[in-house]
Amino acid sequence: MSTIRNLLREHLRGMRPYESARRSMSGGNIWLNANESPYSPACSGSFANLNRYPNFQSAELNNAYARYAKVSESSVMSHRGSDEAIDILIRAFCEPAKDKIMICPPTYGMYAISAGVNGNAVTSVPLLQCDNTWVLDVDNISNNLDNVKIVFICSPSNPLGNTVSDEQIQQVLEITQGKCLVVVDEAYIEYADSASATRFLKTYEHLIVTRTMSKAFGLAGIRVGFTLANSSIVEALTPVLAPYPLPEVSIQIATKALTADALIDMRQNVIEAQGERERLTSTLTTYSWVKRAMSSVTNFVLLQVDSAESLVSFLESKGILIRNQSAQMNLSNCVRITVGSPAENDALIANLNEYPGAKL
Ligand SMILES: *Cc1c(COP(=O)(O)O)cnc(C)c1O
Repeated sequence: MSTIRNLLREHLRGMRPYESARRSMSGGNIWLNANESPYSPACSGSFANLNRYPNFQSAELNNAYARYAKVSESSVMSHRGSDEAIDILIRAFCEPAKDKIMICPPTYGMYAISAGVNGNAVTSVPLLQCDNTWVLDVDNISNNLDNVKIVFICSPSNPLGNTVSDEQIQQVLEITQGKCLVVVDEAYIEYADSASATRFLKTYEHLIVTRTMSKAFGLAGIRVGFTLANSSIVEALTPVLAPYPLPEVSIQIATKALTADALIDMRQNVIEAQGERERLTSTLTTYSWVKRAMSSVTNFVLLQVDSAESLVSFLESKGILIRNQSAQMNLSNCVRITVGSPAENDALIANLNEYPGAKL
């Protein structure tokens, strides 16, 4: 054992893996801890030709996504979830042990994990709390760009559920021009009725927008995500990406999920989730043990409660999984609850009506 440890690259020896929702909790029958859609779309494929390697990039899939996202075809790269975009961007642009990435916590955990694996340090510029929401600290971002190659902005934010304003995105694009790249992670963009940062791609060559089919499309299981960027960035990433990044099965299912009929279903599910989110939020805010509910444009709600640990374990004992976010900067006693199906949300509320009475 110790020999293997000694053989391991030094910077990886103490490293802990990302505590994904799936890895950190098991069991339960209502899963509200991973921001998945409660619905699995009907999937079918011809699944012929599985004896053949897939194309490096499927023109059919990328063109379908380009039409959906209203970007040019040369601006699209598809790969294994948007998590792989984070990884290949860091491996392509960040020199190990020298370059840094910048994050603005509280934020999505994979940026720091992927940087750590590649041997890159992380500069943190925490979000500022302002008028009951959270905003970027643009001045501090500007003052801490030394050796930073990529700034990661999560908008809509996981775990906060809000968006970064257009003005702030544009300010960050202005101050980073000629210095580093800016990634806007739009995993939840379908749930937010706001415009995508893709409209800045024409003006800013150093912008990258990442997208996924894991959330609103209800296809987390097929692992398909996209990088949207100017072709110079797409070309730079090409040698870093695996030669066959997506299974043929995933390519076929994802392409079908982008047809007109499938998009209508996806948008219908989004509308239901938005309605359920508002119903859930207004019920949650009536409980005395809820200190604060962040207003959300996503398919989840972030709550500050009296005790995150006791709420998570109470619900777990009822078979309902939610996510404790207390380890995140400035989120003590916060939990994140994914919006489930109407029946799942009813079950959640019925159980919460017994909390904290059941705890005492
Ligand atoms: C879920 C999530 C992802 C990961 O998406 P995959 O496409 O499944 O890899 C990326 N970013 C954020 C903010 C997420 O919440």
